[in-house]
Amino acid sequence: MGLSLTNVDVVYAGVIQVLRSVSLEVPDGSMVVLLGSNGAGKTTTLKAISGLLHAELGEVTAGQVLLDGDDIRHEDPAAIFRRGVVQVLEGRKVLEHLTVEQNLMVGAHLRADSRAVKADLEKIFNYFPALPALMQRTAGYLSGGEMQMLLVGRALMARPRILILDEPSMGLAPLLVEQLFETIGRIRREEGLTILMVEQNARAAVRQCDYGYVMEAGRIVLHGTREQLESNQDVKEFYLGFS
Ligand code: ATP
Repeated sequence: MGLSLTNVDVVYAGVIQVLRSVSLEVPDGSMVVLLGSNGAGKTTTLKAISGLLHAELGEVTAGQVLLDGDDIRHEDPAAIFRRGVVQVLEGRKVLEHLTVEQNLMVGAHLRADSRAVKADLEKIFNYFPALPALMQRTAGYLSGGEMQMLLVGRALMARPRILILDEPSMGLAPLLVEQLFETIGRIRREEGLTILMVEQNARAAVRQCDYGYVMEAGRIVLHGTREQLESNQDVKEFYLGFS
């Protein structure tokens, strides 16, 4: 079933309309990327799903946000998290005074299955082999690439069904971007995870996705499979960095 938005409008502070009739689908097990320039409304779209709009005086004023057929528009972020929708926010929000290990455990705070938590930690080390050596480091002192690994690792510790990533490549060197997307692609394949990702670093993201949407000024202006996006002249020119 998965996640879907149908004709969603979002308004901030009762007057500023940011999303206009946005529809998108994230079927179970798929990886979907949402592209668009700064201010297009990508982060707002993610917040409409994870329930984080309310904290910013934003509201879905029309349309539906369906998770497995249930409308979750009015559910709070904690309830949506418990339903397995885990969002990694933009801008590397690690708990900077805590160690890497403590940060990872925060991801698992709702879980009582300590043996499975331990097994998941091993799995995360397998995806991110640099993490074990960093476990006792204070998270605030990590490099950008290390923080991003930690954030994805922390989200995985919550055993998400649907992982939402907001610009995971932001500020990373090109080589690290490639590595991160390859690992995200691998996680998705091996865990059967559903992923919705916002990205500006479009080429590496599109390569890993099944389907993509392009957003401009609060609307979806184009969508298609990876092959369709990669062969679309406008997408190539504006988002993939070659024509
Ligand atoms: P970026 O890549 O810069 O994060 P984005 O595509 O994710 O851009 P959003 O952050 O969703 O875009 O913002 C879309 C529009 O909504 C922008 O014009 C922004 O100024 C406006 N906006 C975002 N948050 C609020 C808010 N809390 N109140 C009012 N307007 C907002």
